Amino acid sequence: MPVLMYSFGILKWTQTELDALDRRVRSLLTANRMHHPRSSVMRLYIPRKCGGRGFLNAKTLHNREICSLREYFLAVDVGMHRAVVAVDKGLTPLSLAKENWCKPIVLDTNDRREVWQSKELHGRFYRALHGPDVDLLASVSWLRFGDLFGETEGFVFAIMDEVMMTNNYRKYIVKDGTVDICRACHLPGESIRHIISGCSHLANGDYLHRHNLVARIIHQQLALKYNLVESEVPYYRYVPDPVLDNGNITLYWDRSIITDRTIVANKPDIVVIDRLERRTMIVDIAVPHDENLVKAEKEKQTKYLDLAREVVDMWEVDTAIIVPIVVTANGLIAKSLDEHLRRLSLGSWIKGLIQKAALLDTARIVRRFLSQEP
Ligand SMILES: [Zn+2]
Repeated sequence: MPVLMYSFGILKWTQTELDALDRRVRSLLTANRMHHPRSSVMRLYIPRKCGGRGFLNAKTLHNREICSLREYFLAVDVGMHRAVVAVDKGLTPLSLAKENWCKPIVLDTNDRREVWQSKELHGRFYRALHGPDVDLLASVSWLRFGDLFGETEGFVFAIMDEVMMTNNYRKYIVKDGTVDICRACHLPGESIRHIISGCSHLANGDYLHRHNLVARIIHQQLALKYNLVESEVPYYRYVPDPVLDNGNITLYWDRSIITDRTIVANKPDIVVIDRLERRTMIVDIAVPHDENLVKAEKEKQTKYLDLAREVVDMWEVDTAIIVPIVVTANGLIAKSLDEHLRRLSLGSWIKGLIQKAALLDTARIVRRFLSQEP
């Protein structure tokens, strides 16, 4: 790499020329809708496994090579190298003979993460992603294995960075005098957070649709596992049967469980009755906002306690466990999800699928919402 860069003259570029090159690349990405003009620039150059987009930055590459080449020449104590060092008083960008050489700036991933974190709007997602209960690697796995189009990826990043043209953004960031009222529910506060998970107007339509996509993935995998369906279809085409039964296993979808005693929370998304193992699994799905990841999981676990107690006697099983499946609107996944999937004997790979389903549907919700007149 250094030899190539050197022979093509790239190592001779000035810092201003390098900045211009990086800006040009960014404006091409923006022109192709792959990068929102107000999205985090730092995040573009952070590796994907750390939550960035993994683009190369010409200035960083250049400066890093200059520093390591210089270090190399100064460290090697061989005749020819010594001679080169002695004569290079500004002949090359390395200026090997210069004692008070000014080291060019090289931003590493940690530097870029600090900038990302420090931004008021962009930093909110950073903090959510780095929460103590969040599985960071699983939460960014869509960036490594999700195979999203560049344009969709850029749109998802703009949602996470909270830079969409909502009425809240226009009032407080653009400051164009917009009144911050939600165009759908007409309540104050049309922030991106409100649109993706807090608008009462979207609860029974859009949010339910997203929730059911995730629930359908879990239902289909359980149905396949117990041989209740013959073949797999893409999750968005899968229509769960209200009841599937093979004598040993019963699988309910979105069905009220009639009990002797009145129980308020009696309609979990999915119920498995396993008569061979003499156990029941009550599965409930949530797609909350990032900050409510752990809270949503705990709520699901307490919500069905009464039902769990009741069905043990009613269905003559030994145990009834409650399994919450939670992924946030921005695809965050809790460390506990692996354990919940294990209790359902489902593979961890399903995390990637439910994350992609949630993210793509969040993007659909935002696109549709913002296409309406403000
Ligand atoms: Zn609203």
